[in-house]
Amino acid sequence: MEVRVYAKRIELVRAALRAKRAEALLVTHLPNIFYLTGFTGDSGFLLVEPERTTLFTDGRFRVQARAEASWANLVMQRAGLAATVGAHIARAKLSVAYCPSQLSLATWQAARHAAGSKVRWRAAEGIIEALRAIKSPAEVAAIRAAGKVACEVMHEVIALVRPGVRELDLAAEIGYRLRRKGASGESFEAIVAAGPRSALPHARPSERRIGKNELVVLDLGAILRRYCSDLTRTVFVGRAPARVKRWYRAVQNAHAAACEALRPGVRAQEVDRAARQVLQRNGLGRFFVHSTGHGLGLEIHEAPRLGKGQATLLQAGSVVTIEPGIYIEGVGGIRIEDDARVTADGSELLTTLGRDLLEL
Ligand code: ZN
Ligand code: ZN
Repeated sequence: MEVRVYAKRIELVRAALRAKRAEALLVTHLPNIFYLTGFTGDSGFLLVEPERTTLFTDGRFRVQARAEASWANLVMQRAGLAATVGAHIARAKLSVAYCPSQLSLATWQAARHAAGSKVRWRAAEGIIEALRAIKSPAEVAAIRAAGKVACEVMHEVIALVRPGVRELDLAAEIGYRLRRKGASGESFEAIVAAGPRSALPHARPSERRIGKNELVVLDLGAILRRYCSDLTRTVFVGRAPARVKRWYRAVQNAHAAACEALRPGVRAQEVDRAARQVLQRNGLGRFFVHSTGHGLGLEIHEAPRLGKGQATLLQAGSVVTIEPGIYIEGVGGIRIEDDARVTADGSELLTTLGRDLLEL
């Protein structure tokens, strides 16, 4: 990414800080540091100051930090990262905003101790997350590419689903095939859950072998150019009984209703409600035990969240998952998940793999 992209993002952070009457922002969450600087090291803090941006890291990342964020003021840690940042803040005499949910108590105490009693601290959640919720065209392109890889691998791995295959073997195929197609990794550990285990929304793949006449839920995602995708399909091994077809159609209709509701100016909770109402009308409301979707980007779960009580107004440029599901204990589960972009006047699906019920 070009330097001016980061400069623009940092200017937006400074504008948000002025509204919160703070002079500087301490950034401790690594995806946020990457978003503002391009620094990919796995240890560091960032301080957005009025006239400069200071990146704190340690000797292991000196060369990398110089290469990735040469324009930043680089400071190598001495006693410890938090103490180094605290001492810097004390010298700069700034009022500092920080994000409590992204700071351990030990780090916070060390930074505060080193900064001394004169520094004013202001808790401020979500400044960078609000910026990250609106994706640039380049970010959308990366998620779209990650979604394409996820769709290709899903298509290939569904062809491997048959009685006798272990969930773990399919999960291994997913990881391998994602990387072979250029992913740097998986957005999360793939879920392959068959039979009664498919009723666990976040099942970990097990030694269990897939049996005949079972539902199988596959949930996977690729990381490409640092951006995540997230995709779920549910298949049936054998000829699906009428009730499974009925359940599947209800989830499919809930998915379509949520996609229809997804547009700028709508509250996030309205998209959730659209999906939930369809399942309720089909008598399945009590089996839908999670939210309808979540934002995704540099992280697999980020703003905005599409759930009950989420009053955030959706804006063009957000990328979210749409993933209604039902989970019937002892029987099985069905989930259909796609990634979608909020456009100027509606929404567009970024993952386009077919979503009709496959009977294998
Ligand atoms: Zn998923
Ligand atoms: Zn998801």
